[in-house]
Amino acid sequence: MAREFPLDKTRNIGIIAHIDAGKTTTTERILFYTKKIHRIGEVHEGAATMDWMPQEQERGITITSAATTCFWQDHRINIIDTPGHVDFTAEVERSLRVLDGGVVVFDSVAGVEPQSETVWRQANKYNVPRICFVNKMDRIGADFWRTVDMIKERLGAVAVPIQIPIGSESNFKGFIDLIEQQAIVFVDDLGTKSEHTAIPAELEEQFREYRDALIERVAETDEELTLKYLEGEEISPDELRTALRTATISNTLVPVLCGTSLKNKGVQAMLDAVVAFLPSPLDIERPTGTNPDTGEEISRDVADEAPLSALVFKIVSDPYVGRLSYLRVYSGTLTKSASVENTTKGKTERVGRLLRMHANHREDIDEIRAGDICAAVGLRNTFTGDTLSDAQNPIVLESIVFPEPVISIAIEPKTRSDQEKMGIALGKLAEEDPTFRVETDQESGQTVISGMGELHLEVLQDRLFREFKVEANVGRPQVKYRETITKQAQAQGKHVRQTGGSGQYGDVWLRVEPNERGKGVDFVNAIVGGVVPREYIKPVE
Ligand code: GDP
Repeated sequence: MAREFPLDKTRNIGIIAHIDAGKTTTTERILFYTKKIHRIGEVHEGAATMDWMPQEQERGITITSAATTCFWQDHRINIIDTPGHVDFTAEVERSLRVLDGGVVVFDSVAGVEPQSETVWRQANKYNVPRICFVNKMDRIGADFWRTVDMIKERLGAVAVPIQIPIGSESNFKGFIDLIEQQAIVFVDDLGTKSEHTAIPAELEEQFREYRDALIERVAETDEELTLKYLEGEEISPDELRTALRTATISNTLVPVLCGTSLKNKGVQAMLDAVVAFLPSPLDIERPTGTNPDTGEEISRDVADEAPLSALVFKIVSDPYVGRLSYLRVYSGTLTKSASVENTTKGKTERVGRLLRMHANHREDIDEIRAGDICAAVGLRNTFTGDTLSDAQNPIVLESIVFPEPVISIAIEPKTRSDQEKMGIALGKLAEEDPTFRVETDQESGQTVISGMGELHLEVLQDRLFREFKVEANVGRPQVKYRETITKQAQAQGKHVRQTGGSGQYGDVWLRVEPNERGKGVDFVNAIVGGVVPREYIKPVE
């Protein structure tokens, strides 16, 4: 069967943003313009939504990393949801591992915010090509140019505007497309109608300046264009786009666009840019891994007929179908009801149904091919980061690296008889989330849960109640961090303090006390509900 969407017309992207920059609104508008939802506002009403967990709607944050499929200009775009809150950076990490490109959304008033810096660095680590969308151009205090400068200075990116805004705040009308050299002005509230107008006289000078800057920048990346540019020849929009694409994919530069998702301006042009500049699965490095039998490093062709290799990047317990494993196929074809090898665990697994997730429905599919993303039902022993492979040609793909949890709390059920139920529920939650740990403290017998931050643990506690009907009390673990240190340090009676981590504790003092065994001292964490990992602790000078 022929491919519905050739590989070069596939995009796996993430919408990456600081919390509140407008990721949800932008995603919703994307789904609206790609006709996946029919009415703006559906997402917030929770009918058709990426943020489908109740906690997310209540707290206005995004926790799940669901993937949803939509179509634009003959391209299939899989949007891998990427949360914006610092407690969920592990979720960002797994999304970045499987996506090919990112749209980074900024608030044009706030510019580059601390969390934008964190995600930007993570995206650098995975070499993810990006485009920037400077959102909220309608807000009072909106400043496109300041945001562009911040992207350059704070993030160290070669940020190249490919649009310049026409007006700002309540007067934001549209933008000048520097590639096509035309002004686009929106004429209806839904942004579905726009007019191409002459470049406004007052922007003529700015337009020339930035178009020249764009051409100069792009020409630098391409020898032929450099020559043309030096000889003063006209460079066509297509030539510019091709060179911009190459430069974006090689992470030489980052195109910058503007708009306001809330007021429906600029999102369609941003989708055009996703298709034009972000990589297809063919443009990224070949998937690599090791042969589990020989330990030899191997790679695969991104092709349907190559041996299967797929990476599981998220496990979700779904109320309708049970355990769902989101996966990205890197090479080969995975068919429903097939037997596959989980090479990470050394186990054979049977795939049940394969589901493609759309914003408004789930589609049962018979097979999924190289470069695509779907959710599989029926994998029992597969976890986040595991590879599914052709049994005859085994490969273990490079996995996902998760940070260690940074805080811990003790948890006990309100009703004693719920103890076992709570244990099972916490086990299930830990299965879904590799940064969530459940342990029993050997000495106190308490159940201690650890995660990436207070909000992370609160959300899990909330799920415990909603999904498993276990009400629990939480409190400080009796001993939150314990490490036997040397006699010498004991003699010096040192206090220690947290020196790293996410910085949420600031200067936290830990008491050092002799332990019962008389062999050394224990660090007793003096902060409420916190465990500080060893590497963040250092004796105070
Ligand atoms: P997220 O946390 O990044 O998902 O951000 P949301 O999409 O939930 O947006 C956060 C807030 O900003 C909401 O109140 C939105 O209505 C608002 N917002 C989003 N986009 C725009 C925009 O373009 N202009 C204005 N003025 N507000 C916006």
